[in-house]
Amino acid sequence: MSYVIKCFECGAEIGNEMLDACPGCGGLLNVEMDLSRMRGRAPSDLCTRPMGVWRYAPFLPVPAEKAVTIQEGGTPLYDCRALAKELGLARLHVKYEGANPTGSFKDRGMTVGVSKAVQLGCKVVGCASTGNTSASLAAYAAKAGLGCVVLLPSGKVALGKLAQAMFYGAKVISIDGNFDDALNVVRQLAREGHLYLLNSINPFRPEGQKTIAFEILDQLELEVPDAIVLPVGNAANIWAVYKGLTEWRELGWIDRMPRLIGVQATGSNPISAAFKAGKEDFVPVDHPETVATAIRIGNPASGRKALKAIYETKGLATEVTDEEILAAQRLLGKREGVGVEPASAASVAGVVRLRQEGLVSRDEKVVCICTGNLLKDPDTVIKNAGQVLRAGASLDEVKRLVLG
Ligand SMILES: *Cc1c(COP(=O)(O)O)cnc(C)c1O
Ligand SMILES: [Zn+2]
Repeated sequence: MSYVIKCFECGAEIGNEMLDACPGCGGLLNVEMDLSRMRGRAPSDLCTRPMGVWRYAPFLPVPAEKAVTIQEGGTPLYDCRALAKELGLARLHVKYEGANPTGSFKDRGMTVGVSKAVQLGCKVVGCASTGNTSASLAAYAAKAGLGCVVLLPSGKVALGKLAQAMFYGAKVISIDGNFDDALNVVRQLAREGHLYLLNSINPFRPEGQKTIAFEILDQLELEVPDAIVLPVGNAANIWAVYKGLTEWRELGWIDRMPRLIGVQATGSNPISAAFKAGKEDFVPVDHPETVATAIRIGNPASGRKALKAIYETKGLATEVTDEEILAAQRLLGKREGVGVEPASAASVAGVVRLRQEGLVSRDEKVVCICTGNLLKDPDTVIKNAGQVLRAGASLDEVKRLVLG
C-alpha cells in the first residue's frame, strides 16, 4: 500500500499530496504503487473481499479501513453473443459501468479520491464536469460529510447527471463556456486553496478506476482479451485501465497486454487525430461538439497518458460520428437489453467501424467498456426513440393499436 507520486513528464518525486500538477514542469502526476507485498501471491488471494473496488485494496493508495464507499464496482461483464454474431466477432463482452451507485465508472475513482480527501483533512471538494464526475463527487461528498462545488458547462449537461449533482446537495455552478474552460477555473480555485480538486488529473482517481481492468480479468478468469475498447474524453480512464493491466503484468498475474482502443467522437477528436498522425502529443480542438456529452472535451487533460497507453499496447484510437454512436446505442439495447448513454455507446460504435475497416479481426475477443447508464441522458433517448402511441381509455381503441 505504500506508493510514491511522480511527475509523468520529468519523473520528479512529488512530496505534496494536495497537488494536481508538477511544481517543476507543470506535468501530470502519477501514483506508483509499491507492489512488493503482492509478489509471489495470486489474484485468488484477493477473494476475501466481495467483488468491487475495495477487493483490490492492496493496489490502492488508501487503506480499506478508511474507505468512503457506497459499494462501487463489481459491475456485470455481459457476454454479448447476439451482438458478437452481428458484428462478426469471436467474443464480445460489455463491462457495464452503468451499474455503479451513481450510474458511471466515475464512482470507482471517487471512492478512492474522496477517501484520500478525508485522509488529508480537506473540508471542501470540487470538480469541473461534463456531468458524471459531478454526479459522483456530489454523492461521495455527501457520504463523507464534505462540502462540494461543481462547475458545469452551461446547457450541455445531460438531465440525469444535473439532477444527481443537485440532489446530493452540491453547490452547482453553471459556467458560460465549455468543459475545458470550467476545468481551468476550478484548477485555479484549488491552487488558491479553496477546495481539493477531484477531476481525473487528481493522481488518486485513476487508482480507483484501474480496478475496471482487475475486474475484467477476474471475470474472464484471467484470460486476457485481445482488445479492450473504451470511449476517450478527458482521457484518464484509458490510462487507468492501462495502469491496472500493467500492474498485474508486472506481478506475472497475466502474461500479455490486450490492445487498448480509444474511441472519440468526430467533433471532439484530438486523441484520434494525434494517433492518426503518429504523434505522442495532441492538438486541442477549440469547439468540441458531439451528442456524447461525456466525451465532449477538446483539450483532454490526460491526453499524453492516453497516447502512451495506446502506443505501448499496440492499440489504436479512432473516431465515430454521432449517427454511428446513436445507432450503436440502439443496437446494444435491442440485441442485448443493455442501456447505455451515448458516450458509452461510442465504444461499441468504434468496434462496428473497426470491424468494417478490418482493424479488428473476426477471431478477436473484445471487451467494450460501457461507461455510463442509459438514464443519464433521457432527452437523447426520447428524441431518437420511436413514438408513444395515444389512445382513449377504451378497450376498442387500445386493441386497435395493439393489433395494428
Ligand atoms: C467521464 C466519462 C467518459 C470519459 O472518460 P475519460 O476518463 O474522461 O476519458 C466516458 N463515458 C462516460 C459515461 C463518462 O462519464
Ligand atoms: Zn515535472
